[in-house]
Amino acid sequence: AQVDRPARIAIVGSGPAGFYAAARLLSKHQDAVVDMYEKLPVPFGLARYGVAPDHPEVKNCEDKFTEVATSSRFNFVGNIDLGNDLPLAALKPHYDAILFAYGASKDKELGIPGEKALRSVYSARAFVGWYNGLPEHRDLQPDLTSGEDAVIIGQGNVALDVARILLSDVDALRSTDIADYAAETLSKSRIKRVRVVGRRGPLQASFTIKEIRELLQLPSVSFDPIPQDIFPPGDVINGLPRAQKRLMQLLAKGSANAAQTATKSWSLDFLLSPDSLHWSPMHPYRLTHTKFSRNELDPADRYSPSSKVTPKHLSSGKRAMVNLSSSVFFRSVGYKSLPLPGMEDLGIEFDSQRGIIPNDGFGRVTSPSGWGESQKLPDGSLIAYLPGLYCAGWVKRGPTGVIASTMADAFTTADTLLKDLATKKDSQSPLQAADPSSCLGWDAVKTEAASLGLRTTSWQDWQRIDAAERERGQQKGKVRDKFGRVEEMLEVIG
Ligand code: FAD
Repeated sequence: AQVDRPARIAIVGSGPAGFYAAARLLSKHQDAVVDMYEKLPVPFGLARYGVAPDHPEVKNCEDKFTEVATSSRFNFVGNIDLGNDLPLAALKPHYDAILFAYGASKDKELGIPGEKALRSVYSARAFVGWYNGLPEHRDLQPDLTSGEDAVIIGQGNVALDVARILLSDVDALRSTDIADYAAETLSKSRIKRVRVVGRRGPLQASFTIKEIRELLQLPSVSFDPIPQDIFPPGDVINGLPRAQKRLMQLLAKGSANAAQTATKSWSLDFLLSPDSLHWSPMHPYRLTHTKFSRNELDPADRYSPSSKVTPKHLSSGKRAMVNLSSSVFFRSVGYKSLPLPGMEDLGIEFDSQRGIIPNDGFGRVTSPSGWGESQKLPDGSLIAYLPGLYCAGWVKRGPTGVIASTMADAFTTADTLLKDLATKKDSQSPLQAADPSSCLGWDAVKTEAASLGLRTTSWQDWQRIDAAERERGQQKGKVRDKFGRVEEMLEVIG
């Protein structure tokens, strides 16, 4: 029998995926109550801690999220690391559905000698977190003064963000929400030359035109022309799809700043795979260069975006190698999601290979081993679902895609969840076997969190932190001055 109670949904993670899913759930289901759990005391995930400070327009999505949070059917529960602070199983009896949108908390490694060095070698994830004020990387202290050459491995937009921050005039960044300590370190940077290195060729790189254009337009920064033999010929460029053609034409045109007048320069270096990192024999803490092996594209397929590379060999049969001067090294070859501790107690078999929660593409968590509720697909094959469990965003698709694609993906998951709720036979939660009246959401979980001594933050707490950050920012002539430590955030709310 129907019991008159709201549908209770827990969302794990308050980044774009979590918020867009919440927006959809609340607007399409008038009786849904959404409790959003977030590891940090503050919301917005990579919109706050990933998106570059000189891209304020991208952060406008936070206004939409703030509007979502004004709903009386929305609760923000910050400063709670689900799976670590509180077992996931503690949520289970109190919700009709749990939607995982916790993003990607690690980054992919290269697996080369020297990569684990404590100095001069950084992941783009850590560097980005550092300049954006992410508490986890507050104390990174990147070494930007040992030399003039930065090497970035990877040619995606995150790599270009790192390059742009290294090459920008720091005074232009000071009015943004860049962390103060980062602006200070960058103002002392000696980096003059930034190489953005990729394994494949220009047609296979994943950067996009806006980010390339921004770099080409940086004042006093020149761009090293791409060698002719690496660049696709004109007739190939003319035959490319429009967006790719424009990108190639832009790269061919290069920078407006002549190398002679520029104070800094950057390059895109193609067909190179990092082999090892090398330190000075005289100064063991001083990174000197990175050794790369040269690659070549499959000649039969060299102009296709999916073309593969193989190592290039010299006539002697040896692999062709090259050294690039490097005083600081960043790897930017992608983020990576991890399972949350205790996920297996909910039956979730995290796909560590792909770094995603197994799902049916519409957001329902599936069980590759066939555990759960089996259903026949139109093609006759069987698929097993874990009822009541959903995922969205980077932990669903893998760590690629901009906020717009994350939004579309979160809407799909929310629509699937709502469809499943509507077809549910009675008021019993698919997650719980017990009495539906125990499905009380945060009101019930709160007691358990308090008994564990957890100090959670509410939306009102975030609003106070937000106001304090804006006020501090105003005094310094910037949009916001973020608190770089969790303790500082908690201090604001007393
Ligand atoms: P996230 O944004 O990572 O959100 C996940 C949230 O879950 C985080 O708040 C995290 O703290 C929380 N969480 C993690 N573990 C737990 C746990 N155990 N318990 C509770 N909460 C948890 N897109 C653009 O459109 N334009 C850009 O300019 C742009 N720049 C980018 C720059 C960088 C460096 C990066 C990495 C991405 C950028 N993106 C950009 C992409 C965009 O940020 C992503 O598409 C989007 O943030 C993915 O959303 P998400 O919600 O899946 O993950």
